[in-house]
Amino acid sequence: MLAYTYKEHGKFELQEKPKPEIQDSRDAIVRVTLGSICTSDLHIKHGSVPRAILGITVGHEMVGIVEEVGSDVTSVKPGDRVTVNVETFCGECFFCQKGYVNNCTDPNGGWALGCRIDGGQAEYVRVPYADRGLNCIPDTVSDEQALFVGDVLATGFWAARISEISEDDTVLIIGAGPTGICTLLCVMLKKPKRIIVCEKSPERIRFVRERYPEVLITEPENSKEFVLNNSDHGGADVVLEVAGSADTFRLAWECARPNAIVTIVALYDKPQLLPLPDMYGKNLTFKTGGVDGCDCAEILSLIEEGKIDTTPLITHRFSLNKIEEAYRIFENRLDGVVKVAICEPI
Ligand SMILES: [Zn+2]
Ligand SMILES: [Zn+2]
Repeated sequence: MLAYTYKEHGKFELQEKPKPEIQDSRDAIVRVTLGSICTSDLHIKHGSVPRAILGITVGHEMVGIVEEVGSDVTSVKPGDRVTVNVETFCGECFFCQKGYVNNCTDPNGGWALGCRIDGGQAEYVRVPYADRGLNCIPDTVSDEQALFVGDVLATGFWAARISEISEDDTVLIIGAGPTGICTLLCVMLKKPKRIIVCEKSPERIRFVRERYPEVLITEPENSKEFVLNNSDHGGADVVLEVAGSADTFRLAWECARPNAIVTIVALYDKPQLLPLPDMYGKNLTFKTGGVDGCDCAEILSLIEEGKIDTTPLITHRFSLNKIEEAYRIFENRLDGVVKVAICEPI
């Protein structure tokens, strides 16, 4: 089968590999019918994910059809259409029991697919702990509608969930990339009084303005003043930092009102400065990143009910044979790309 592979630092390559096989009684083999490319894939390519293993098949955003299951798998069967969760988790350890599945203590726990074990930019993928990592897609939900459930949308949903948003709040979301938009969609479900999106890319600003006209938009340079003028208590009640740029961590806490919650979703390339003397007396609560991707069933129900729609994010479609071209466009942000969908080879 074809598998897009982490060849060496800075290089991925489409290779022919054997089809994966069941290795454990809790595994499933899934035929990937639709996949995507995530910014984290680029982080692997450029060496900022040290635990990524050379030679693995990359890709951790995918949906597919169950091909085969191990003898202990009970929640899915061959033929089921499923979302695949970016995280592998046992469901039984201390952290899993508390819903902190990102910190599952199983040796394979956490982000393994497409990082430490073969992922889904391929024709087939082996999914460990299939009872936890796979969720059946309702018949009325298409592959494209379900594509982001296991990763970027799970991240947005988790970020909105932990941010303690109430209906009186002004919520600031920094960054309107794919994860920022998914976060926005999930924050909207909480019905806060105001949502402000801070973004600098004209294309992304246009995307938000056209599709979500009720959302206020500001650019980084004026955002402190804008948030001050558009909030009730001298700053945002809740800030979600989804950009991960050089100055956005500072922006996040500067735009927050005293006693605000600041949720850091972004993955930074470099350490960030926490200037405690400058923020002394602000009494902020910080929550830091690492999605607990255990709400996929609930997210699928919300999609089925028409409450979340991420299909506008899919701006480009390629088959697996053309994945090099898909990466070229995604990596260089060409042609207004937000997300690409990778379908089976033709
Ligand atoms: Zn990802
Ligand atoms: Zn666990």
